[in-house]
Amino acid sequence: MNAENPNIPLDRPVIRQLDDAAANRIAAGEVVERPSSAIKELVENAIDARATRIDISYADGGKTLIRVTDDGHGIPHDQMILALSRHATSKIDGSDLLNIHTFGFRGEALPSMGAVGRLTITSRVAEADIGSTITVNGGDIGLLKPAPATVGTAVELRDLFHATPARLKFLRTDRSEAGAILDVVKRLAMAEPHVGFTLRDVSGGGEGRIVFRADPENGELFAAMHGRLRKILGSEFAENCIRVDAEREGMTLTGYASLPTYSRGAAVAQYIFVNGRPVKDKALLGALRAAYSDFLHGGRYPVVALFVECDPERVDVNVHPAKAEVRFREPGVARGLMVSGLRHALAEGGHRASSTVANATLGAFRAPDASQPPRQYQMDRPSQGAIRTAYNAQSGFGESIADYSGRVETPVIEDTPTDHPLGAARAQVHENYIIAQTTDGVVIVDQHAAHERLVYEKLKNQMADNGVAAQALLIPEIIELSDADCATLMDAATELSRFGLTIEKFGGNAVAIRETPAILGEVNATAMIRDILDELADLSQTQTVQDRLEAILSRVACHGSIRSGRIMRGEEMNALLREMEATPHSGQCNHGRPTYVELKLSDIERLFGRT
Ligand code: ADP
Ligand code: MG
Repeated sequence: MNAENPNIPLDRPVIRQLDDAAANRIAAGEVVERPSSAIKELVENAIDARATRIDISYADGGKTLIRVTDDGHGIPHDQMILALSRHATSKIDGSDLLNIHTFGFRGEALPSMGAVGRLTITSRVAEADIGSTITVNGGDIGLLKPAPATVGTAVELRDLFHATPARLKFLRTDRSEAGAILDVVKRLAMAEPHVGFTLRDVSGGGEGRIVFRADPENGELFAAMHGRLRKILGSEFAENCIRVDAEREGMTLTGYASLPTYSRGAAVAQYIFVNGRPVKDKALLGALRAAYSDFLHGGRYPVVALFVECDPERVDVNVHPAKAEVRFREPGVARGLMVSGLRHALAEGGHRASSTVANATLGAFRAPDASQPPRQYQMDRPSQGAIRTAYNAQSGFGESIADYSGRVETPVIEDTPTDHPLGAARAQVHENYIIAQTTDGVVIVDQHAAHERLVYEKLKNQMADNGVAAQALLIPEIIELSDADCATLMDAATELSRFGLTIEKFGGNAVAIRETPAILGEVNATAMIRDILDELADLSQTQTVQDRLEAILSRVACHGSIRSGRIMRGEEMNALLREMEATPHSGQCNHGRPTYVELKLSDIERLFGRT
């Protein structure tokens, strides 16, 4: 029984108000999860203070020391203690939580850090002759003292989590914490191209080692953004990206996105920002995937740095303590903007294939090192194509020359002007490669890949209108399927009829194919159905109808394409080139591989050592 009141049992819990120190330690668990999250909060504070240069140092993966110094507006002497109090912020007055223009607004970061480490803030505002400094250690606020300082703020956080040893155990190795720090700094540096950043590892003491450095970029936003992205994502990205600048219902999308021919094997370089805030938002990443689904299949991921901006009232950034996720008031607008903005930009990128393709081509053409076996250039399927023959030509001269000239199917065509972007067809070699002459170079087109893309684009257009036109087979084709395949196919029958594919049950597990898409002409319907079955098996039910649709169309297109091996007449080849020029996305096949490569005369001269 309770000593003060014998009527209250001892084991009933009593509600108490937590003291500030405990409340701060709890908040710290959410806001300061690891060194990189502390750095994120400190750098964001510096950006909010309109700094133009931010220097960041850390030691031992940030576990023993973090220091962020800025040249922002500083904290006045009489507000230093307030800055360290919980829920004290200069950024909002609390009246409008939906109208937030700064990174910070919760007023939790500094008190949280002071609760779980040794935090020292030194700051000076322009009007003051001298700065002030104060230290908080495990929640105990020390004395506010005058201190010499330049205008701006320096925050030092030592021995993170020394006051909460249990949390220390959750930290990873110094190396992986350092990796997380670099990632955070890069993301913030992308969002603020006009601000200069330096990141140093000072584990060894002294000046330390510069891990990352980006000087302030000048000029208008796109130029600055492009310069900063070159610095962070590399010059290959900078040369193989397209500019994105779209708007929908007052929401804007800007930034740069890679051409489909420049992609990565994992989603490691997809940077998305909402109102300047780096986010890892599932919905937006999903929209990104949808935008590229037409060009990239099979585990390839575009590289992007994209910035969504809207009135702060239209997006809630307060759903996650570290603000990594956001909630749009109209999620459909954000998704639509992302998908259509990117597709539009990619369409304008037109038939451009990435320069990495041309470089790879040049690499392949380079005279072989006698001691090395010939390198094999991976292009689209039938990879035993013309280029490998070029090696044979170099190794076994006489024989290959005969081989070569004997295989030029089409003689030179004289009457087409060469000033089209893809030039005038001059020959077809190895029954799949069209050689065309442009004003300043040579284009090699993979006719199968190119045609596949053109058919696909046409199918998509038909689909967008009234569905794909069908053509009845004179004699229906009958295929025997397994139980499971038959069920899968019949489940999709209605969907498939919109693609111009009419199928019916034909007793047991047999299916009759009655109609195929007219645009394809004569096709091997059985092979096409088997391919579609593979595609249906691959497609997870969670994918959107649009994604499924495109995957299936792309399979269908494969079947209607001019197969490699078909000999083409001169007019046919030129018609294909003209159609490619007029068709968006024709620079890549449906799998993101290039449909053509271009060699400039200057490249050719380099190959022959003329320059
Ligand atoms: P929040 O950023 O959510 O306001 P913080 O705890 O991060 O909360 O910071 C509290 C306050 O301290 C800020 O509102 C700001 O007024 C001040 N402050 C923090 N860091 C800086 C800085 N680097 N420069 C100027 N003022 C700062
Ligand atoms: Mg803050």
